[in-house]
Amino acid sequence: MNGLMMNYPLTIDRILVRAKQNFPEQEIVSRLADGSLHRYTYGEFYTRTLKLMQALRKLGVKPGDRVATFAWNSYRHMELYFAVPALGAVLHTLNIRLFPEQLVYIVNHAEDELIFCDKSLMKPLADLEPQFKTVKKFIVMDDLAPDAGIQLKGMTDYEALIANESAVEDFPSLDENTAAGMCYTSGTTGEPKGVLYSHRSIFLHAMGISMSDSLAVSGRDVILPVVPMFHVMSWGIPFAACMTGAKMIYPGNQLIGKPIADLIEQEKVTLAAGVPTIWNVLLQHLRKDKADISSIRAMVVGGSAAPLAMIEAYQKEHGVQILHAWGMTETSPLGTVANLKHKMHSWSAADQLKQRAKQGAFVPLVEARIVDDAGNPLPWNGSDSGELQVKGPWIAASYYKPENKEANASFTADGWFGTGDVARIDEHGYMEITDRKKDLIKTRGEWLSSVEMENAAMAFPGIAEAAVVGRPDDVRGEAAVLFIVPLPEKKDDLDLKELHTFLGEKFAHWQIPKTSDIRIIDAIPKTSVGKFDKKVLRKQV
Ligand code: ADP
Repeated sequence: MNGLMMNYPLTIDRILVRAKQNFPEQEIVSRLADGSLHRYTYGEFYTRTLKLMQALRKLGVKPGDRVATFAWNSYRHMELYFAVPALGAVLHTLNIRLFPEQLVYIVNHAEDELIFCDKSLMKPLADLEPQFKTVKKFIVMDDLAPDAGIQLKGMTDYEALIANESAVEDFPSLDENTAAGMCYTSGTTGEPKGVLYSHRSIFLHAMGISMSDSLAVSGRDVILPVVPMFHVMSWGIPFAACMTGAKMIYPGNQLIGKPIADLIEQEKVTLAAGVPTIWNVLLQHLRKDKADISSIRAMVVGGSAAPLAMIEAYQKEHGVQILHAWGMTETSPLGTVANLKHKMHSWSAADQLKQRAKQGAFVPLVEARIVDDAGNPLPWNGSDSGELQVKGPWIAASYYKPENKEANASFTADGWFGTGDVARIDEHGYMEITDRKKDLIKTRGEWLSSVEMENAAMAFPGIAEAAVVGRPDDVRGEAAVLFIVPLPEKKDDLDLKELHTFLGEKFAHWQIPKTSDIRIIDAIPKTSVGKFDKKVLRKQV
């Protein structure tokens, strides 16, 4: 048909070229393992990425090949984020915190041929190397960690690899539906499953997170992704930053408390992103050791529910707005963001806070519905809850080479992806996760949301973290067991009776854990990406 718009392929090399043309002077800052900061510009990033492409070609990387990374957040990791897909190959970011057997499974399942790893992370790879079936070579990125004298197969230094290459702009023309990246789910609820992102999905997702009612990533931002580059492509932030010209701050391997507070204060970070645990630890740290974090316009919290008490504390103590967001490996990840709509600005502070503690409104291009057990859509009335299903251009259509048929059962015949999350959606379109299907507790025949009880417990003064799991119970079917981590100063005098009364304001007496089912522990076990690991807690009960 004549007269239509250009069929412009949405490929990652276009984002890269734009960066060189439009903001070559913008900075990319990375913390190295020795604590020092490495600084360079998008201009230098561009040149080095072209050289890396040449080096990858010489190593024999062909379109479709999987190139893996095993690394913290840094400028070299960002170079790989662009060089590998721009060649038509697939960037596979390995989760450095996985259990060894999961890592071996994933590397072999993806058939990775090259692994780029940080020097500080060589040890775990060296232990597993004999079990990797397809890996031909390791390239080591010297993050200035002490030399541990470890040898890996075909080991080459990253800088030596690219040093003598020339920076030629030689981008193969790719179909926008070519695979560009892959991640495996972190396995919170089962075996890891692989998801392949395309150039098109990454491109559109980068635009999606840059929309102002979404995360509003822009060239005016200084972004600190504490979310690892192996956790759903760092939530797509490196791509959006390179598209818009945001200054990037990569925190390396120091993610706890002071190093993060220092980076925010010194680099005047405007947008920071990470899981609740990270921000909870920072909050506790800032109560003891003050730092000015007021430059932050939005602290994005996702991966697990942001407790209302934490949202309130950041606002009151630091004037910092937490932006609650929801997503999954299968959804690239962004699905919802809890920005307030125009009409909500006249609401009371308490109502606004409640709205911001929900997971939020679906971003444009992500369609959603909640369904009952028979698959019938439920109304958006804020009370009916059912499984959340989504569709859109950056939602997976299937898993990569699923091991068993059940893995793809989450994809419905009529084109929806069933998330396994149980949610309600209010009349304003704001989604609220009430639980994961597998974490719901059935007590006295009624569903109890573990998330709601955790949030209630975390609002009790003196409690830093709380997690709830079910245990079999003769009378109730299942009973809730509440694990709590007190703040250090409350360690010895937390009043469990008062906690009981406090929970009684929100829950029926038979839903509240008995005193013997309230367990005080030093830390909630966490998964590889910092979520509460309920599999471990369930084993304990
Ligand atoms: P895994 O499935 O292994 O945990 P993902 O990182 O893909 O790995 O996790 C996606 C899940 O994390 C979602 O299905 C949801 O249960 C949970 N999640 C993500 N963001 C939030 C949030 N803001 N609130 C509550 N749960 C969330």
